[in-house]
Amino acid sequence: MYFEMKDIEVNYDHIRALKGINITLEKGNIITLIGANGAGKTTTLKAITGLVKIGSGEIWFKDQRIDVLPPQKVVSLGIAMVPEGRHIYPFMSVKDNLLMGAFLRRDGQEIKKDMEMVFDYFPRLKERLRQQGGTLSGGEQQMLAIGRALMARPELLLLDEPSLGLAPNLVQRIGEAITVINEQEKLSVILVEQNAKMALKISNKGYVLETGNIVLEQESKDLIKNDHVRKFYLGG
Ligand code: ATP
Repeated sequence: MYFEMKDIEVNYDHIRALKGINITLEKGNIITLIGANGAGKTTTLKAITGLVKIGSGEIWFKDQRIDVLPPQKVVSLGIAMVPEGRHIYPFMSVKDNLLMGAFLRRDGQEIKKDMEMVFDYFPRLKERLRQQGGTLSGGEQQMLAIGRALMARPELLLLDEPSLGLAPNLVQRIGEAITVINEQEKLSVILVEQNAKMALKISNKGYVLETGNIVLEQESKDLIKNDHVRKFYLGG
């Protein structure tokens, strides 16, 4: 298996945020984790990148156990995360924000090419190249955060609620961009979303997380039709 989480538990003091979850991802696929506030979605992504310590279980990426590695080592294996709330550098230009994504790389020509690739996906960023990151609109900041993650040339991209706070037409654009990047760059994606409609539309497989447990796991095209999902996540 390309990527696998086995029986993962995470505890914060007295809170059991993840109660033994199992997730698998095949290379080149998009999977999504949907769930209400506090279900454990962000914690799952942080467990993958090593930002929270797991209590028990194992995480494997390309035949290597990664839950024992420090976060920077996980990044160097090709796993990049776009955190919730974007976290771009507000006082740096768009260009410098993008270059920060490539700070582990030394291949100058390739970095230039990848910046052009990011502009192909998000032309707005090219128009705003010299503008300070913090003065971009919410949607533009989200594009910048995704663009910056792509500049690390990841194999596996973890996206934490990319549609948060965006207008419906922008949610759709972000969804389309994720699909195109997935296809063209052969990028595998784990997408955390409260916007279940968009997430299930663009993913191969979906997991429903409720208070630290996976309660449903199905191909997304089937999950969209599931009564429980329709009632609680797609508004009936
Ligand atoms: P949301 O959609 O609201 O972002 P989520 O599904 O991403 O929610 P998590 O952020 O993973 O949820 O949180 C899972 C549970 O763990 C919640 O009950 C949360 O309060 C708790 N939690 C998260 N981080 C910490 C922390 N650093 N210390 C203590 N409890 C935490």
